[in-house]
Amino acid sequence: MFGNLRTRLIVSHALPILMLTPALALVLVFLLETPKSLGTLADQMIGQGTLIVEIAREDPAVWHDAAKAETLVEQVKPNIPSRVMLLDGSGRLLASSLPADDARLGRSITFPVIQEALAGQTNWFIDYSPYMGTRILDMAIPVFDDSTHALIGIVRLSYDISAIEQRTVPLSRTIIVTFAIGTLLALLLGVQLARSLNAPLLNLTQAIARFAPGTPPPDIPETGPEEVRLVARNYNRMMHRLRELELTRQQLIANVVHELGTPLGAIKAATEALRNGAAADPALANELTHGINSQIDQLRLLVDDLALLGESELKEITLNREWCSLQTVIQTQCSAYTYWAKQKRIDLRAQIAPGIPPVYVDPRRLGQILANLLYNAYKYSPPGAQIVVTAGCATEAEPPTAVWVEVADNGPGIAPEEQARIFDLLYRSPHQRNLHKGMGIGLALSRRLAEAHGGTISVSSVPGAGATFRVMLPIR
Ligand code: ADP
Repeated sequence: MFGNLRTRLIVSHALPILMLTPALALVLVFLLETPKSLGTLADQMIGQGTLIVEIAREDPAVWHDAAKAETLVEQVKPNIPSRVMLLDGSGRLLASSLPADDARLGRSITFPVIQEALAGQTNWFIDYSPYMGTRILDMAIPVFDDSTHALIGIVRLSYDISAIEQRTVPLSRTIIVTFAIGTLLALLLGVQLARSLNAPLLNLTQAIARFAPGTPPPDIPETGPEEVRLVARNYNRMMHRLRELELTRQQLIANVVHELGTPLGAIKAATEALRNGAAADPALANELTHGINSQIDQLRLLVDDLALLGESELKEITLNREWCSLQTVIQTQCSAYTYWAKQKRIDLRAQIAPGIPPVYVDPRRLGQILANLLYNAYKYSPPGAQIVVTAGCATEAEPPTAVWVEVADNGPGIAPEEQARIFDLLYRSPHQRNLHKGMGIGLALSRRLAEAHGGTISVSSVPGAGATFRVMLPIR
């Protein structure tokens, strides 16, 4: 029953009101219905009762002789506005000023006030008397024998208080009605408040339930209390990010398909040419096999990048370090790109300073960084451009503790505002996107690899005049 937030909110809001209001109303009504004047009246009645007791003292036979009791009642009746009853020491009615009580003469009276008097207490109560047919202020005084101190009789006075009470009824009614309306309003307010909190949360859960990766999720309205609005805002932000990631994922798949398709198509064309007679021409066959080899190298780089992407998203990159010659790694990568450079008439050169000490790196991963930089330089530079690979020792310390490799081209360069972003995963320059295909992961992975080696990668570029990528690596 209290399983949902809305019910709980209503209950928590309304419960204290529901519990307190009737109690408060009761107390107020009780206070009103017991006016101070009743206390004064009771005192007066006790005075009158005491007077009767005093009169009866002259003839104690009153307390067992009904006729004498009757006479006494008749005597005092005109001066006392209450009903006067005289009872004997065991609570039996001897005489009453009210004719309706005649049927009870000689019988025990069990009203609470009589019980009190039988127990020796003078007391008064507000009660309902069926014989008087009204609410009464009921008072009784026990009478004791002067010498034995035994209870010998009771004087009971009952006063009709309906007139006094009638005066307070309208006010009591107003109090009850006001409290009832107040409680109702508080309940309605509670329901409204609960609804205002519940509705945005319901929107949110429905939006989450409707979420399907393929379709753009609609924004949910940011309404309700501040905390709920914050949840809605963050949900909307999260959904936009999710949508971006989904689009990027689709883009990445499309790019991968393209990147795989191009070399596979080239390999297929070269093998077809070889089968159709090109093998007979040694120079052509050599050229074609070179081409196939380079395309396979390209595919290898692609597979390596994708595998590394998956690995580095999940855990730290593992490196298989060994002492190796920087010159050898650079030469290997440059030779792999000679074929490509020739295709575009690009002048690819390596200028390596002598005396670079061996470096403690993972040669395959360092090769992967260089391959990505060389492939970018080849891809983005126009035909006839120049790519220069240089390397040396960082001169800050002696003996040197770090080495650097630079890949510089004189292609289109990179706009200053993009230079920091090109190392972000899946970032592709909007200027290059339409001209050159790519996956947008090469530089991000190169940075991860350089950092895994404890090194850095940076770019400097003058747009229109080329770009230079610099990799710094500690020697060990
Ligand atoms: P991809 O080349 O697959 O798009 P990369 O992460 O290798 O992804 O490169 C990110 C972006 O950096 C490229 O889209 C391109 O805009 C820019 N870029 C990288 N290298 C060069 C370069 N040598 N000349 C000009 N722009 C480059």
